[in-house]
Amino acid sequence: MVSFDTMGEKKCPHCGEWSNWNQQFTDICENCGKTLGGRDLDYQEKRAVQEQENRENWIFYIKEHDNDFVKGMKKVGNFFYTVYISIITFIAWLIAVLPG
Ligand SMILES: [Zn+2]
Repeated sequence: MVSFDTMGEKKCPHCGEWSNWNQQFTDICENCGKTLGGRDLDYQEKRAVQEQENRENWIFYIKEHDNDFVKGMKKVGNFFYTVYISIITFIAWLIAVLPG
């Protein structure tokens, strides 16, 4: 479990000393100069990388090197996908609100 310690102070995961901090995982330890986030910061960064990878693996993700045709197709694909999801959501909602 993530402990937020006392307000304004956090035990540094690197040197074990208490340091002032502003509740940000990227704050720097006053004693050793490393980030106070430690494992929490690692986790946040890993999650950000993971999310970026998921986005890039998405079939309609527009990449820098795609040519205009591919970009256009992906935009159209994305549009229809959004419409499709909206319809599915609507049907699911309809089923949910209709009396059994
Ligand atoms: Zn430290």
